[in-house]
Amino acid sequence: MSYSDGTRAVHAGLPEKPEVGDPFLPGPVFAGPFHLDPVSGPGENDYARTQHPTRRALEAAIGQLEGGPTLVFASGQAAITALLLAVLRPGDTVGLPADGYFTVRAFAEGTLRELGVSTILVPTSGPYPDFAGVRLVLLETPANPGLDVCDIRAVSAAAHAAGALVAVDNTAATPLGQNPLALGADVVVASGTKALTGHSDLLLGYVSSGDDALLGKVETWRKQTGAVPGAFDCWLAHRSIATLDLRLARQTSNAAAVAALLAARPDVTGVRWPGLPSDPSYAVAVAQMRRIPGIVSFDLGSAERVARFLTAASLVFAATSFGGVHTTADRRAQFGDDTAPGFVRLSCGIEDTADLVADLTAALDV
Ligand SMILES: *Cc1c(COP(=O)(O)O)cnc(C)c1O
Repeated sequence: MSYSDGTRAVHAGLPEKPEVGDPFLPGPVFAGPFHLDPVSGPGENDYARTQHPTRRALEAAIGQLEGGPTLVFASGQAAITALLLAVLRPGDTVGLPADGYFTVRAFAEGTLRELGVSTILVPTSGPYPDFAGVRLVLLETPANPGLDVCDIRAVSAAAHAAGALVAVDNTAATPLGQNPLALGADVVVASGTKALTGHSDLLLGYVSSGDDALLGKVETWRKQTGAVPGAFDCWLAHRSIATLDLRLARQTSNAAAVAALLAARPDVTGVRWPGLPSDPSYAVAVAQMRRIPGIVSFDLGSAERVARFLTAASLVFAATSFGGVHTTADRRAQFGDDTAPGFVRLSCGIEDTADLVADLTAALDV
C-alpha cells in the first residue's frame, strides 16, 4: 500500500507491531552502555555511540521518507563532514556548490585543502564542468541562501559518466520536497535542524544512501569519531516529523504570498522563490520538486534598512537557521557570508498567511 505524505510522516519509523500499553512513539531510552549477555556478548544494543534504539527509530523514519538507509548525526555539519572525510583521500578533487552552505566551503578551503583534497566550486544553476578526475560532486538544491536549483537527474548522469559519486544536500527541500536518491544521486546529506524537525529546538544531521559499502564507511566513521545525537534530541526530532507535511504546506503557502508581496514592491530587489513563475529556477524546480520550501530571499539595499524592517516587524524573529514554525529573517552578511549587506533570507513559519502578509507590509513601509 502506498500512502501519501501526511500519512507517511505520521507513521514514519513507528514500531511495526506495537505492544499493548506502549506509547505510540517509544520514549527516549537514556543510556550510554547497555546490559550485555555475559556469555554471548553484544546483542542489538551494547554502547550508545555504536547502537541506540531511539536513534534507530529516528533513522528508520528518515530512511522511509528519503527512500534509503539512513544514519543520523549530531548536526548537519557532522553528517556532511563525515561523508567528505570518509570518501575523500589526498589527491582527490571534490565539486562543491559555489553558492551553497558557507561552512562547507570554509571546511573545504581549510581542512580538506590541508589534507591534499582540491575543490572546484560550481554555481548551482550551472554551467557544470566536465567531471573527469572528480571523486565526489556535492550538490545543494535549492541552494542556501540564494535559492538556485539544479537538475539532479542531469548532473548525476554527467557525473556518473565521469566516474564521480553524487551527493545532494537535501536540507532546504526535505525528503517530502524531493527525493534525490530516486533522481539518481548516490547519497543524501542534510541538516535536520531546519524544516525536517522545524521547532528550532535541536541540531541534527543525516546521511542516506542505498550504496551499502558507502554507508558502511560513513557508519564506521561515525562510530570512530562519535558525532552522534543524544537520545532526547532523536526523540524530539522523531516526534516533530509527524507534522512535517502540515508544516511544509503552510510554509509553502505563506512563502507564495510573501514572494508575491515582495516581488510587487519597487523598494525590494532581487526577490527569489523557486515557486514564482518568473523565478529563474521555476522550470527545474517544478519539474523536480514535489513542493517548494518556505524560504524567500531578497535585498533591502542596506544593513540599516534590514534592521529597521526587523525592528518594526512583530511576527519576524531576527535569527539564523530556517524552516521553523516561527517566521525568521537572517541578514547573512553579519556572519561573514559572501552576500550583499542588505541581503535577507526570510523563512516563513506556520502563522496565518493574512497576519504575516500584513505584518511584513507594515514593517517594509516603515
Ligand atoms: C544548516 C545547514 C547545514 C548545516 O547544518 P547544521 O545542522 O547547522 O550543522 C548544511 N547544509 C545546509 C544547506 C544548511 O542549511
